[in-house]
Amino acid sequence: MAEAYPSVELSGGPLKRVGGAVALDFVNTVGWRLADEALERLHSYGDLVAWVRGTGAIDATRARRLAARAKADPGKADRVLAEARRLRDALFRTFLARSHDKAPAKADLGLINRWLARTAPRAGLDLRRGRLAWRWPDETLESLLAPVLWSAGELLTGDDAARIKLCAAGGCGWVFLDASRKANRLWCSMEDCGNRAKAKRHYRRRTSV
Ligand SMILES: [Zn+2]
Repeated sequence: MAEAYPSVELSGGPLKRVGGAVALDFVNTVGWRLADEALERLHSYGDLVAWVRGTGAIDATRARRLAARAKADPGKADRVLAEARRLRDALFRTFLARSHDKAPAKADLGLINRWLARTAPRAGLDLRRGRLAWRWPDETLESLLAPVLWSAGELLTGDDAARIKLCAAGGCGWVFLDASRKANRLWCSMEDCGNRAKAKRHYRRRTSV
């Protein structure tokens, strides 16, 4: 089966979006989360801007403005990046808890709520060039994460949360929304973890005589 997941161009190369929701793809901006050595893909606030821009959640003008703002205050930009990574970990744990019908950790929920408060509610709809778009909160370095938080809130409060899954490959740690009819998707991507698992099985068959 051919897969054609969209990818986002980051400083370290392209990153696939296999999650099926912006918030899950955000969690997947670190690879091999459960392995000995995780693979960080967000190396700077610029990567964060590029990633959100790549999801289509912000336009090029906003991306440029936020990148310029980060350049003007690099210390603050680094802090926001560090906090965004902590949010990413809290979201990972909270998504998994929710998908197993368990209560999330209070500290994680507190962190998510602090971010939600900072990125502000969607105040309304604006008509721009004939198209409707969400009215954006005040443009701060943190507001860049607004689309991630809106997506997370919707996922965590909706019925789809039961379909959030962790890739079956040991160590991978990527999460995705299983939209398959039988709800039997195992891998983040057949091309990556799926094929590796297949190759391993094949190797074992050949060597276990
Ligand atoms: Zn995987």
